Amino acid sequence: MTELLYQTDSYLKEFEALITAVDNETRSVVLDRTAFYPGGGGQPCDFGTLEAAGVSYPVEKVKKQGDDVLHFLGGATPLPPPGSASRGTLDWARRYQLMRTHSALHVLCGTLFRDYGALVTGGDMEPLKGRMDFEFERMRGELVRDIENAVNHEVQQGREIRVKILPREEAFQIPDLIRTKINLLPEGITRVRTVEIVGLDLQADGGTHVGNTSEVGKIRVADYKSKGAINKRIYIEVV
Ligand SMILES: [Zn+2]
Repeated sequence: MTELLYQTDSYLKEFEALITAVDNETRSVVLDRTAFYPGGGGQPCDFGTLEAAGVSYPVEKVKKQGDDVLHFLGGATPLPPPGSASRGTLDWARRYQLMRTHSALHVLCGTLFRDYGALVTGGDMEPLKGRMDFEFERMRGELVRDIENAVNHEVQQGREIRVKILPREEAFQIPDLIRTKINLLPEGITRVRTVEIVGLDLQADGGTHVGNTSEVGKIRVADYKSKGAINKRIYIEVV
């Protein structure tokens, strides 16, 4: 089982961990704790390096498997044995861009729900670029500039972004969470992580976010597409 350090400290760039399992065939190792985000909820995984036994291995892919986080190590150097101490370092430039992008998408969600009642149905991102799908029948080209102005106004408010981990029962009492996909959470999950942009948006979310909207930068609404009468896809860029 891997302790997920990024869930409570998204600004952690370096960490020490013990290698608890090694698979030489797939060149993957499990750590007892990690700051590497394994991907999920539209946010891609982190890259970086893992130093162990005097070797610096590139971390080329990170993936969650049950309660473990697998770190896939590049190169051809034999892997360190289980029980080895290691030091992980994130590719911070990439991760921080993903944090800004992910928070920008939540600003978009919160703003579109408040201003138009639009519900989000999905999303995806890469560093500094993202898209979200909404049930947003009224969306049309003329609204692009209005939306862009509204989301940038929210960014400039310097709204704090708070992360909490709540017992499932408590999370289910929060009306704002019910409008998102909290009711789709598997039965077995006893704790729910929430990400709140204070005064704007609250979601059940596993991703990494900046601490304040002022860190997002400027959001450009790059494009939108109709995916039918109701479903619309909105593309953003962060600069
Ligand atoms: Zn999210």
